[in-house]
Amino acid sequence: MCLGLLAVWATLWKRHIVNMDLCAGCGVEAETVGHCFHNCWFAMHVWMSSSIFMVINSTPVTNCFEWVCNLMAKYDLEQMNLFITICWCLWNQRNSIIFENKSRTVAEVVSFAEKYVTEYDQAQQCSQIPESQVRLRRWVVPSEGVFKLNFDGSVRKAQAAAGIGIIVRDNNGPVIASMDVRIHYLEDVDCVEALGAVKALQLGCALGLGHIQLKGDSLNVVSAIQGKVDNLSCYGHLVGVTQAQLLHFRFSSVSHVYREGNLVAHCLSKLAFNFCFTTSLDRGGSSFFNGVGGF
Ligand SMILES: [Zn+2]
Repeated sequence: MCLGLLAVWATLWKRHIVNMDLCAGCGVEAETVGHCFHNCWFAMHVWMSSSIFMVINSTPVTNCFEWVCNLMAKYDLEQMNLFITICWCLWNQRNSIIFENKSRTVAEVVSFAEKYVTEYDQAQQCSQIPESQVRLRRWVVPSEGVFKLNFDGSVRKAQAAAGIGIIVRDNNGPVIASMDVRIHYLEDVDCVEALGAVKALQLGCALGLGHIQLKGDSLNVVSAIQGKVDNLSCYGHLVGVTQAQLLHFRFSSVSHVYREGNLVAHCLSKLAFNFCFTTSLDRGGSSFFNGVGGF
């Protein structure tokens, strides 16, 4: 609408696609975008019947972008939500008349839009996550002396490849080390995630960490690593390796983290498709890159 890209009759007529440009609603003026959403008597009546009648311009709208920008400078989010919803209803009304030969009255359009916005607001309030749960979904700083190893995997079937991202941080927050690896010919998501756990622990061992928390967002893989019975899935051997590796640390724990709390590892796993086999270490404030062998 703001960019004037909608296929209104006036635009189609200019491009010689149709042979008339009259508005199907009023049949009086050419249907430009400005006409459709503001200048048409139907649109005008809808705005006047709504609680945001003050969006009406004193002159016909010829540039919707300017019209909307001016409104955004004057009105709050709630009013703009209703404005956008009514615009959407006006466009639907126009399409219903043209393609289905159906139309709503002015009162029906306004009532539908206002009810729609109210229901949307109520749904937003109901779906708000409690503060305690929000905290669980974010990356949480580990306790003093503990290192957190987040791992994640991504698969690109078109490239027949997978990416693994790992990030290690301590209780002060800065990144101790990060790693991204591209693996060829591995397309099973759980296998990639399980391999991510193995590589995260290899990195933890190489760094000489003693107390670690391993965090992944694959519930399947994390549950398998936590499990006491042999895992017979295609990634069972990787689960076994991970469980054996965990014994090398003085203290270790494995837990699931929501995707929102694993974003950096997730991004690194995507980055692996651009760069291959990269490990970066950052200790004591000085950054240096170092390929850690054996991974
Ligand atoms: Zn009209």
